[in-house]
Amino acid sequence: MWGRIHQYLSEIAEGVYRIPARAANTYLVEAKSGLVLVDTGLPGSEKRILSTMARLGKEPRKVKLIVLTHRHIDHIGSAAALKKETGASLASHQFEKPYVAGTLMVSMPPAWSLKGKMTKRFVSLGQSVAKLFRLINYHPIYVDKVADDDSILEEVGLDGTILWTPGHTKGSVSLFLNKPKAVIIGDLLRSSHGKLVEPLLMESISQTQASVQRVLELGPVLVCPGHGKPLPASAVKVSKRVVTPVPAKKKQEEEDDLDKLTADLFKVDPQAQAQ
Ligand SMILES: [Zn+2]
Repeated sequence: MWGRIHQYLSEIAEGVYRIPARAANTYLVEAKSGLVLVDTGLPGSEKRILSTMARLGKEPRKVKLIVLTHRHIDHIGSAAALKKETGASLASHQFEKPYVAGTLMVSMPPAWSLKGKMTKRFVSLGQSVAKLFRLINYHPIYVDKVADDDSILEEVGLDGTILWTPGHTKGSVSLFLNKPKAVIIGDLLRSSHGKLVEPLLMESISQTQASVQRVLELGPVLVCPGHGKPLPASAVKVSKRVVTPVPAKKKQEEEDDLDKLTADLFKVDPQAQAQ
């Protein structure tokens, strides 16, 4: 009976389970040929996730795919441990891959919301993110699959789409499920006091707004954020602020960043190219 109550509590839609991990939600989705896990919580979350799965009667080996919504430590933290326990493939957007692999470190994005500004000040006071990574014992891991190709969902028989929803980070993705109409959005929005509001930190506010729009146009019934409770789409409250255009200098910096990232991803050897 307890099992059934537990199942009732965490099954948020048919075949979709919310499993709160350390510092963030993870979601387990039933597919035709196995299970898909979205996000992994902070390092050390694997025991909590696996024990909740056990109570739901879900075997670790049934997890065939782990999708990381974005590069932040509270979402990728237990990816290495969970991949080992489940044997699943690991997927993220290609922009996030080097961060998961530990070859690039997350830097603080421009903070846009008031709370975000306070958080930014607090974090930069104490320590760099790189230091934080070491402190909380992150185990880097190689990402096998690119999460902007729906074929990875077809492989596990999941009826859905992976959407590139940048804004919070450049390579943020959301998982849209056609049945039930639910979308797992990482940190595109966060749930707070019964509303879905913008996250504390964003790399780009205009991209965030465009991504939210894109998700809403698909008509989800349930929106499942990385932080807080899943809520109906009507709970989305994104303030309509005038978006100031990105200054040319900043735009150039961003493009340089992207170039560097792409070069790192494809590892073009200048010598090989010269031949
Ligand atoms: Zn995040």
